[in-house]
Parts: sequence; C-alpha cells; structure tokens
Amino acid sequence: MIHTLYIKQHNQTFLKYLGYTSRDPYRYKGSGKYWKRHLKTHGNNVDTYIIGTYETKEKLKEAGIYYSHIWNVVESNEWANFKPEEGDGGFTFINTNNLKSHPFIDLTKQRFGNWTVLFRLPNNHNRKTMWSCQCDCGNIYEVIGESLTSNKSLQCRICQVRQPRSQYRYRKTK
Ligand SMILES: [Zn+2]
Repeated sequence: MIHTLYIKQHNQTFLKYLGYTSRDPYRYKGSGKYWKRHLKTHGNNVDTYIIGTYETKEKLKEAGIYYSHIWNVVESNEWANFKPEEGDGGFTFINTNNLKSHPFIDLTKQRFGNWTVLFRLPNNHNRKTMWSCQCDCGNIYEVIGESLTSNKSLQCRICQVRQPRSQYRYRKTK
C-alpha cells in the first residue's frame, strides 16, 4: 500500500492542512475535524500538493513528524492541524499534550464597529492574521485580526477622518 503525505490549501482563506492518505490524495478531502468544518463553511475550493509517497507507515510517520515540525503546523495559525490526526492511520504527527495555545478564530462575516469581515488574507510580514474587511461606506481594506477583536479598528481611514470633523462642526453651529 502506498501512503501519500500531502498539503491542502484553501484558495480563498489560504488555510493549510497537512495530512496523509492511502487513497487518491486529490479526491480525499482530509480527515481533520477543524479542516472539514472549514471546508463546509468556505467551500471545497482547495489545491492539493503532494509532499511524498511512502511504502510503509513508519516512513510516512517519519516524514509527517519531520514536516509538521519544520512548518510548525500545530502552533501556526496558517495550518488547520489543531489536533493530532484522527484519520485513517491512527498514528499522530504530533505530541497530544502540545495542542494549539492560540487557536485560529474564523472572523468571516462578523461585525466589528462599521467593519464586516469578508475573508482571510495571507498573514502579514509580522505573521499576524490579516482580514479583508468592508466598511459600511463601501471601502474595502486589509485589517489585522487583533485590531478587530480588540476594537482598535472600527472603521476605514476615510470614515475615521470624516467623523471628528463633522462632530466639531455640529458643536459649533449649535
Ligand atoms: Zn468607511
């Protein structure tokens, strides 16, 4: 039996998933619970990249552990590998005690101030989660996830500039 180690990446959210299967890796959707839920929410719009094929489970496991370590798939929010693989093999790539401390939170469609979150973007150069957001005025900007969840950013730059000035005028004419 041939075992295939693969990466799947969602074309809109860019979330990645490291998995393995002995079936057709292009057809097999992946077994991770979080990953499956992600596909349900965002659609099965996914690219599959083959890392390697292995004749024995031991060799597959060795490679799986190696890649999950160098890519930091458990800790990094770029990956959907929250929990040990519970798929068709029964072995795990990672230590079960070492679960994600900061789980990736899907903000899609949520409202923060005047923002509506549209979809996730690739992380910025500081490895922060970025989101494409639409302000109530119609402008679309890239916003850091932390700025949304901490209420630091409530609207686009144009609205932010516009608002204090109109308040000032309001007070003066009254
Ligand atoms: Zn605006």
